[in-house]
Amino acid sequence: MDFDRDYKMTINGRDAVSPGTIEVVNPATGTAFASAPDCTRGQLDEAVAAARAAFKSWKATPIAERQAAVKKAGDILLAHAEELGRLFTREQGRPVDAAKQEIQGAGAWLHAVSTMTPPVHVSEDSPAQYIETRYVPLGVVCAIAPWNFPVTLSMWKVAPALVAGNTMVLKPSPFTPLCTLKIGELFRDVFPPGVFNVISGGDELGPWMTAHPGFDKISFTGSTATGKRVMESASKDLKRVTLELGGNDAAIVMPDVNLDEVAQKIFFGAFFNTAQICVATKRLYVHEAVYEGLRDRLAGIAKAVKMGDGAEQGTVLGPIQNKRQYERVLDLLEDAKKNELTLIQGAAPEGSGFFIPVTIVDNPPEDSRVVQEEAFGPILPMLKFKDVDDVIDRANASDYGLAGAVWSKDIDKAVEIAHRMETGTVWINQNLNLRPDTPFAGRKQSGSGVENGMEGLLEYMAPQAVYIARG
Ligand code: NAD
Repeated sequence: MDFDRDYKMTINGRDAVSPGTIEVVNPATGTAFASAPDCTRGQLDEAVAAARAAFKSWKATPIAERQAAVKKAGDILLAHAEELGRLFTREQGRPVDAAKQEIQGAGAWLHAVSTMTPPVHVSEDSPAQYIETRYVPLGVVCAIAPWNFPVTLSMWKVAPALVAGNTMVLKPSPFTPLCTLKIGELFRDVFPPGVFNVISGGDELGPWMTAHPGFDKISFTGSTATGKRVMESASKDLKRVTLELGGNDAAIVMPDVNLDEVAQKIFFGAFFNTAQICVATKRLYVHEAVYEGLRDRLAGIAKAVKMGDGAEQGTVLGPIQNKRQYERVLDLLEDAKKNELTLIQGAAPEGSGFFIPVTIVDNPPEDSRVVQEEAFGPILPMLKFKDVDDVIDRANASDYGLAGAVWSKDIDKAVEIAHRMETGTVWINQNLNLRPDTPFAGRKQSGSGVENGMEGLLEYMAPQAVYIARG
């Protein structure tokens, strides 16, 4: 397979070429380097019809066979991590080693989920009756993914949905469709035609999908604003919905930390993938006793870290993934400058790529835009605190509730703080750690429903209670 050209959709196990195309831009240069199909409404209908037809036999396929297929899909990603990783860097911007790790991580994720089997609960087993609850697949899943972790976040949907016995039509972001289209082709050897379809297109395709009556379930990862539109659209025929949305995660740094040990970890918890991570630290609350010490260490890392084209050796942080996001982050930066906030900045390449330097905002007012809004780019507000109750209130004063972190040597105290954070995930002395066997669920406007863990698998299934009279 040539990973550098010929990007085609996969509908019913075959190539689907559309009359129109969308351009794919390399964010490190700002120029288009490839094009992807622009799915027509008719092709969406075909994909949904193929998935509906395939559902009949896929749901009847023994779960062990479905699990084996998902495992094989994982093998395929691992076998092609090199080529897919290179393509990933060109379309997404992330440096090559980390790009390859995304593909390998997605492969490992498919392996892990392929070992999961939904439970059967027996609520009565008596001479009078036997009652059990089993779980059955929902039907055809509409999967919509964002551009920041395009392969990982797609596979978080593919693995449980297909193990559970559903079929799927997957749409990557128009900014990063290429790896996903190639994966669609690679998986044709693994899944029967129609089980796994991949389509790509522009801004209209997502709304067409969520409104399509042929889907039973929507699994969406993206911004909170879009998530609301998805839920509204799904309400028309009560499609099941899982939403993984934005966050404005707080990290709380207590005064007893060893700054030399934690500075690097805190820095990359905020800035890895150029801070385009839903669960990145986006508000850093630091106890006043260690504030200056941590700020100076983070500033040192910010100035030393190499930002550039991910294809170049030694690059640690790549560009912002797309122009739209680049302009949003620039706007936030302009607002910080206009309000005369103190900025500590690293270096970024000049030119036509979408680069914004690592920026630490030194103790801005709590109500400033950089604190209140999800930047989804390399701008990190650092804020001082004195009192633990007060900082927990500030951390929780957000419409989001995705994840959070506490840094302290006193684990009991850190756990107490963690339990008071209104988030679906909370880390102590670590961050960004997510696992296939552990539920990931945003609270408040960070989402609805669960991905990962058994709870995540069951989001793709419906309980069926079976009552059998005896005697
Ligand atoms: P986005 O909402 O703009 O787009 C996400 C996807 O939705 C894309 O595929 C897009 O084409 C599609 N889409 C756009 N409008 C649509 C509509 N009306 N109906 C249906 N689909 C539509 O988000 P993005 O900019 O790609 O991603 C960044 C956001 O995603 C951030 O807010 C980030 O925090 C969030 N995110 C959340 C998680 C999580 O697991 N909670 C993970 C990654 C990213």
